[in-house]
Amino acid sequence: MQDFCTYTARQLRQAIEKDSVKAADIASCLLARRNAVDKKVNGFAHFDKKLLLERAEALDANESKGPLSKIPIAIKDNICVKDELTTCSSKILDGFKAPYDATVVTRLKQAGTLLAGKSNMDEFAFGSSCETSCYGPTRNPYDLDRIPGGSSGGSAALVAADEVIAAIGSDTGGSVRQPAALCGVVGFKPTYGRVSRYGLIAFGSSLDQIGPITKDVTDCALLLKIIAGYDPMDSTSIDTDVPDYTTSLVKDVKGLKIGLPKEYFIEGLDKDVKEKVDQAVDLLKGLGAEFREISLPHTDYAVSVYYIVACSEASSNLARFDGVQYGLRSKKPSLLDMYKETRREGFGMEAKRRIILGTYALSSGYYDAYYLKAQKARTLIKQDFDEAFKSCDIILTPTTPTPAFKIGEKTKEPLKMYLSDIFTIPANLAGIPGISVPCGYSKGGLPIGLQFIARPFDEAGLIRAAYTYEQNAGFERIRPEL
Ligand code: GLN
Repeated sequence: MQDFCTYTARQLRQAIEKDSVKAADIASCLLARRNAVDKKVNGFAHFDKKLLLERAEALDANESKGPLSKIPIAIKDNICVKDELTTCSSKILDGFKAPYDATVVTRLKQAGTLLAGKSNMDEFAFGSSCETSCYGPTRNPYDLDRIPGGSSGGSAALVAADEVIAAIGSDTGGSVRQPAALCGVVGFKPTYGRVSRYGLIAFGSSLDQIGPITKDVTDCALLLKIIAGYDPMDSTSIDTDVPDYTTSLVKDVKGLKIGLPKEYFIEGLDKDVKEKVDQAVDLLKGLGAEFREISLPHTDYAVSVYYIVACSEASSNLARFDGVQYGLRSKKPSLLDMYKETRREGFGMEAKRRIILGTYALSSGYYDAYYLKAQKARTLIKQDFDEAFKSCDIILTPTTPTPAFKIGEKTKEPLKMYLSDIFTIPANLAGIPGISVPCGYSKGGLPIGLQFIARPFDEAGLIRAAYTYEQNAGFERIRPEL
């Protein structure tokens, strides 16, 4: 039998149409691949073999005709799939099964995809390394001693390791783009409001967006087309047309004005990362793109602003996990002790740190000094982008300052960990879309990512720029040896 796991979604769709490949055969490939490698990668938080086979059988029986029919997709563990474990990789949601489907899941089911389990993540999406999961860390398929990035580390690692064809992640400060970069796959964060958040367990509600993680830009366009669009169930969803993103899969950047923000090419940027990004710039120049230096003067404040806003929103969103309605419940007889003990036992260290930070920033007396000030600085960061987009159509940056770091390297120093999102956070604060595409490997063989950022709702422009780069980049994808 063919090894369908190594296919992209488009290739697999072609094989399905040409040779009438059965979903059952695709499911067997997945199972074999998972058995062979997932003990090492640990990309799944929840995987139900019986359910996978039943779903495959149903797809075969119904002769499903959806555009992504039979394509196996993993869903991040903070996105609700009806009657399936949805735990945000946290002990506090132990045993919780979602009572309904998130809108993205409904759409993926309608498109005929084969849902293939829940992917591991940093607890409640708090992290950049996938080390805070209660199910243990996911490992980078390119080097098992290294992190896959986070918080959608499971999603990115599963795609990179050919355990699934594509995956869905969520991006609050970089959690789709950063792990995609570190695992050598494509990750897309749409404009805030483009994809419904209904059924995504909230972290930072003003920042969260759901996005695809795929093997190439073509698959990214295919998936985005399915999950994007207005949803009355999400009050922040925007009612605007969704273009057919596959029509943007054209190789043309002639005359495209690309800005290089000087604040992103600074000391501390890894040499190999800089070299690969510089090569990408040269390549795009050769293809007719026009480059200019731009300035995003408030970049330095982004990480601090983000950690105040994101932790404040998280502390409020996580108040609902108190042992009454969801998951874990301590046996303490008094109500107050039950609340306290459930939260003490259920949340990990990073979640507790963020709840405490956020509660402090929102408390009376400190609200003006921290939260309000952060919101004002957020506006300045947004205005930097508005100004920049007067002179360019797309902004190009590295996705991360360094390739994947070692497991355990930053766990004792939260501030160092927080700084690894320095290039991805600004787009979330400004609500604008960004994509990470692979742009080569470090000398040590670790993947490096290139980020394109665009104006609000210009997802199509991003796809076109990223596709042009990908198709011309000319380096071979190295498959991880597992
Ligand atoms: N790494 C960032 C954080 O820890 C972003 C996480 C995310 O996007 N969910 O907050």
